[in-house]
Amino acid sequence: MKAIVATQDKKAAVVDKELRPLNYGEALLDMECCGVCHTDMHVMHQDFGDKTGVVLGHEGIGVVKEVAKGVTTLKVGDRVSVAWFFKGCGHCEYCTTGRETLCRSVLNAGYTADGGMAQECIVPADYAVKVPEGLDSMAASSITCAGVTCYKAIKESGVRPGEWILISGLGGLGNLALQYAKNVFQAKVIAVDINDEQLEFAKKFGADLTINPLREDVGETVQRECGGAHGAVVTAVGKSAFNGAVDALRAGGTLAAVGLPTESMDLNIPRLVLDGIRVVGSLVGTRKDLEEAFQFGAEGKVVPQCQSRPMEDINDIFEEMEQGKIRGRMVIDLKH
Ligand code: NAD
Ligand code: ZN
Ligand code: ZN
Repeated sequence: MKAIVATQDKKAAVVDKELRPLNYGEALLDMECCGVCHTDMHVMHQDFGDKTGVVLGHEGIGVVKEVAKGVTTLKVGDRVSVAWFFKGCGHCEYCTTGRETLCRSVLNAGYTADGGMAQECIVPADYAVKVPEGLDSMAASSITCAGVTCYKAIKESGVRPGEWILISGLGGLGNLALQYAKNVFQAKVIAVDINDEQLEFAKKFGADLTINPLREDVGETVQRECGGAHGAVVTAVGKSAFNGAVDALRAGGTLAAVGLPTESMDLNIPRLVLDGIRVVGSLVGTRKDLEEAFQFGAEGKVVPQCQSRPMEDINDIFEEMEQGKIRGRMVIDLKH
């Protein structure tokens, strides 16, 4: 079968790969599609260590074609996810308290386990989340990382209906953060991006205020326009976005950090203490979060903006991502 792997020279390549036999509790998937997340680019660039040879991809959707002994939750024909949260240990303090993505022995698809950018994929059956009927596979793929990550981060921000949330970075993740914030959490959205085309895209999906930090000071503008944001979700890949979001919060506000630039953010300690600012890291979502995020997609409250591309386009897609040319998500078609 064909698979997209990370190569030594920090690129991706389509290679032929043979799968091992299934172990107890595993299922074999015929893959339908897999979205291309900016995290795949971090992995390929070795931002978090050398992962040469790993099959990339953690926005995978596939159909179960075989189950091993011990599988009770899936049957042949089920459509399921291959997500970044690929497998936890199941018994540590994180796994047993609703924080399973923080499991210290976690496996992550497309990073520490072979991921979803392949014609076939082996998954631990208990960790594959079923895609509800009425949600097509392309849309589901984008929700498997981008959607659930934003849905969870908005939960972490604590923003309530009618309150203001700032979303910084309106790319693959951010455009879904905008839709979950508006249509599920009923919040007012401030969209921040250095790319005007992303801001235009955000307006189409109902952004209440748009700011380009290359032209306007984010903190000043938000404080002036609405008295500060109650929460912020930062998906942008740059520390200035994190700093701008802190400045834009009102007292008691929470910044949910999602983007992964390999830098540190500045935090003014008096601002943190005197204004009771909270900063929390938010990492993808649990299986339950994904189930919920899928359901909002199935109900049409969130409509991922995806384009289908062949496997061979993978390096072009990463280049387009780097150049800021992508609106929404590029999804690799693994069937045709
Ligand atoms: P993307 O490339 O599709 O989008 C990034 C967006 O940020 C672009 O629109 C870009 O114009 C914008 N941007 C860049 N610098 C900016 C700045 N200084 N201010 C405002 N906007 C800026 O990427 P994506 O797939 O949406 O992923 C975004 C980040 O989130 C990546 O670092 C990725 O690794 C990370 N991520 C984290 C999690 C998690 O669980 N925390 C999950 C998935 C992705
Ligand atoms: Zn991702
Ligand atoms: Zn665990």
